Amino acid sequence: MSQKSSIFAVFLAILIFQHNGLKAQKQIEKIGLDRSSPNLIVITTDGLRWQEVFNGMDFALANNRKFNHGDSAYLFNKYSNTLNGGNSIDGANAVLERRAKLLPFITQTMGTKGLLFGNRFKENKVDVANPHWFSYPGYNEIFTGYPDSAINSNNYPPNPHENILAFLQKQKGYQNNVIAFGAWDAYSRILNEAASGFPVINGFESLSSILPDPQTKMLAQMLKDSYKPFKEAECLDVFTHQQAKYYLETKLPKVMYISYGETDEWAHEGNYSAYLDASHQVDAWVNELWQWVQNTPGYKDNTYLLITTDHGRGFGEGWTDHGADVKGASSIWFGLMGPEKNSNLNKIKQTDNQQLYQKQLAATMVKLLGLEFTPAHPVGNPIY
Ligand SMILES: [Zn+2]
Repeated sequence: MSQKSSIFAVFLAILIFQHNGLKAQKQIEKIGLDRSSPNLIVITTDGLRWQEVFNGMDFALANNRKFNHGDSAYLFNKYSNTLNGGNSIDGANAVLERRAKLLPFITQTMGTKGLLFGNRFKENKVDVANPHWFSYPGYNEIFTGYPDSAINSNNYPPNPHENILAFLQKQKGYQNNVIAFGAWDAYSRILNEAASGFPVINGFESLSSILPDPQTKMLAQMLKDSYKPFKEAECLDVFTHQQAKYYLETKLPKVMYISYGETDEWAHEGNYSAYLDASHQVDAWVNELWQWVQNTPGYKDNTYLLITTDHGRGFGEGWTDHGADVKGASSIWFGLMGPEKNSNLNKIKQTDNQQLYQKQLAATMVKLLGLEFTPAHPVGNPIY
């Protein structure tokens, strides 16, 4: 590149940077983002185990030919610790390094500036309260706070119980400002889109149905033409993420839910490297969203973030599966981030020998926003 063109490139970069900043500012003025109430972003990644969250890559699984598809060298290069000679025998620093290689945002940012629950190595336990240990019952428990045992199938009809997104949709400051995106096509039932009154963009549905412009039309075309390893029921996470991110930046919702699904799909297929790569990618996307929050007025210091999962999985060679007959599959984890100043997270106590339940997340999220979730059904207590 000549000197002239490199100077031009620098000018261009500055212009684009200013344009993006101005665009966000103009958008906020146009939409009139309500700053009196906090925002909420909820993220789930289906069936990601607490074992990987708190111990990083499992050396035995990465070495097991049944699960590594001949790519163990790739896995060890990418996700094993260099401390302790890359040995799985665990000094605390080696574990931390290994965790940070797999899930840098969750380990380093959430682990130091936020709260992370479910580390069973420290007897900090989180479990689902429902007896089924699979997806629909788990997502129902997260969002309604009611581990109704009658919800016993992934094909269960539209959820009869009020969820917190529907509740928030009716509250002052949040009206018509709630949206959900999910890779799996079951969320319109799980969140009862017809009764809840907020949009649920899931499976192969396109954002262009509610926000038609060249960008969303391009995403819709790619979604339609994409590789479909999970057939018609679930798209690749990248489409869910790109549609959600575009909506966040363009429409500035007060409450947004994003559900990623690949972690569970690759685990069921026994593909340990794809499972780890999917979790690593979700972590990078959550980081990207959180950096956007930190750089956007109205969101910075005014947003809570929850990340969790719908169920656990087995351990050892049982890691691929979950369900009531799989030992350990009720064990989950969750993490929280909040504003840097005056955060309600400061009121939450975290101790060793603590037992929390998935059913407590619904009331906790609503309480973080300064409200109280009082539906017609029984609901787990907030964690503070
Ligand atoms: Zn699941």
